[in-house]
Amino acid sequence: MEKLLVSFDDFKKSKKLVVENKPFPFDYDKEIIKAANLVFSFEANKYDDVVSVTGNITGTMSFECSRCLKEFEQKVKIPFECSFTKEEYEYDIAEEMREAVLLNIPMKPLCKDDCKGLCPVCGNNKNEKDCFCEQKMKDEFVAEKWSKIKKLKI
Ligand SMILES: [Zn+2]
Ligand SMILES: [Zn+2]
Repeated sequence: MEKLLVSFDDFKKSKKLVVENKPFPFDYDKEIIKAANLVFSFEANKYDDVVSVTGNITGTMSFECSRCLKEFEQKVKIPFECSFTKEEYEYDIAEEMREAVLLNIPMKPLCKDDCKGLCPVCGNNKNEKDCFCEQKMKDEFVAEKWSKIKKLKI
């Protein structure tokens, strides 16, 4: 992954470094994240022997819904902060941002909170239409039970 180094050299003219809306070269696992379109902004301030960085990553990311398997896009705003000392001299902000993004990825992405998922019987996406398979299975189960009970009585 591309590095994005901030070093003490960047603060020769000013004690403050501001970077806004730069494309984030995010190297991601396509299994988990389907697409990502992210930019980053940060402000770095140099104090005597320390540089302190605060910023955020914004944009959109696409995931596969863990219930209905449909791909959906989500807006994200992920904050991050870090600091490094004069002894370290430089610091890879890209790695810091990558970790912040990975920590903010949902474990079980959902296209919507009340996603109904796929029918376990016919595979239909229940958000799009109802298929009553599960109800039918329940009904058949009850009907079968009743027929057994009836047979017992006879
Ligand atoms: Zn879903
Ligand atoms: Zn079904």
